[in-house]
Amino acid sequence: MKAAVLRSPSRISNRPLQISDVPQLVPGSGQVLLRVRACGVCRTDLHIVEGELPVRITGLIPGHQIVGEVVARPTAEFPVGSRVGVSWIGGIDGECWYCRRGFENLCDSPTFTGYTVNGGYAEYAVARADFVFPLPAALDDLHAAPLLCAGIIGFRALRVAGVERGERVGLFGFGASAHLAIAVLEAWNCEVYVSTRGDSHRRLAASLGATWVGSENDKPPVALDRAVTFAPSGDVVIAALGSLRKGGVVAINAIHLDRIPQFDYDSLLWGERQMRSVTNMTRDDARDFLRTADEIGLRPKVTAFSLDQANEALVAVKNDAIDGAAVIVP
Ligand SMILES: [Zn+2]
Ligand SMILES: [Zn+2]
Repeated sequence: MKAAVLRSPSRISNRPLQISDVPQLVPGSGQVLLRVRACGVCRTDLHIVEGELPVRITGLIPGHQIVGEVVARPTAEFPVGSRVGVSWIGGIDGECWYCRRGFENLCDSPTFTGYTVNGGYAEYAVARADFVFPLPAALDDLHAAPLLCAGIIGFRALRVAGVERGERVGLFGFGASAHLAIAVLEAWNCEVYVSTRGDSHRRLAASLGATWVGSENDKPPVALDRAVTFAPSGDVVIAALGSLRKGGVVAINAIHLDRIPQFDYDSLLWGERQMRSVTNMTRDDARDFLRTADEIGLRPKVTAFSLDQANEALVAVKNDAIDGAAVIVP
């Protein structure tokens, strides 16, 4: 089968992915074999390909937003021909303290699709049968793919922040996750306050229905019930904290923060304000988000690339050169 293979990480301008013929995959016990219909390109893929994340397997096939069709090892829930989604969390051990208590997003030994196991930049992929998700029929392959990481994580961030219908919610940063989360907030009749750098991001936020849009240095004009930060910057976390009412919550949607600057407890955290991080996702988050996306008719903006253009797709993501998400269609 044809796949985009990472022999050794390097800057994307060096085109580190090799489009190669590799042996056809054989699904193991508990796995389904999928024909890949589309695979979304996430910024995390860029971090893996460029070596910002340590190498976990050599000869890696990246890609963790897979829309696939079951072609072998079907299950009762997913017969041959069913269309399913695969996300970043490819499996858990099921045995650690967290798994046994239902906190599977915090598992001590998770599997990451397209990082610790091969992913979807290929004609075929294998996935754990208990970690694939049914996809709504109304969502076509191209538009379903970008929902499978950015969409689910953004949705989880809203949950971690404890957003309720009709509340005032701040989004600090407006990239792939936030532009999907705002659609969910609109459907929940929330007032959305977007603080972000970049004219194009501000225009997009306004066009998607934000009540207020400002730059990263502007403070929302009202006290917020909830806020979600998307930038890897502790300054942004403090700005979000400073915009909350008493009892409000900031959810930090970042794998890495530069640092959190010293801040004034009395004015920023006193009053039972909370700061929480958002880590990975659960299968319930995935299923609930995909159902919500179907109900509200969520359609992300996408640009399609062939498998041969996998490097070019990552270059486009790196340079913010396309409107919306990049999707590889093998
Ligand atoms: Zn576990
Ligand atoms: Zn991702």
